[in-house]
Amino acid sequence: MQKQNEKRLDVLKKRVQRCVCKSCGGPLSLRQLDYNEFEDARIELFCEHCDKLEFGIEPELYTSAQYYVDEYRVNFYPDMGNNQMTRRMSISYVADIMNWAMQHMGYLTKEGFTVAPDMEGKILQECIVLNDQMADDLEKELMP
Ligand SMILES: [Zn+2]
Repeated sequence: MQKQNEKRLDVLKKRVQRCVCKSCGGPLSLRQLDYNEFEDARIELFCEHCDKLEFGIEPELYTSAQYYVDEYRVNFYPDMGNNQMTRRMSISYVADIMNWAMQHMGYLTKEGFTVAPDMEGKILQECIVLNDQMADDLEKELMP
């Protein structure tokens, strides 16, 4: 049991450095949760921006999901409008599907990709532009 906890903590420590929040794409932090019913406090990954527990996603998958949603104008929540929130929820949804597919095909584990992804080329270049746009959108969101 002790060894299992160490391995889990090791996985989380690596994920916090490597992965991003699948909802906002922001960095994650380690947070110690105090559950009364357990003796040991449990360490979890957390997104400060979204204020929630978040296991995170490989940044390459987040970037790909972001590109997919923006490029193909995907909105899985049309009833809720076409806004920053439905965009984020759609990115998170697509990122989940991509994550599942990669795991299912054996290219991804909790410890990362089993084969290094090759992100050089079209998507990455266009995502630099998208990130600037995202920064602008975020600025507008924070300062109405
Ligand atoms: Zn977040």
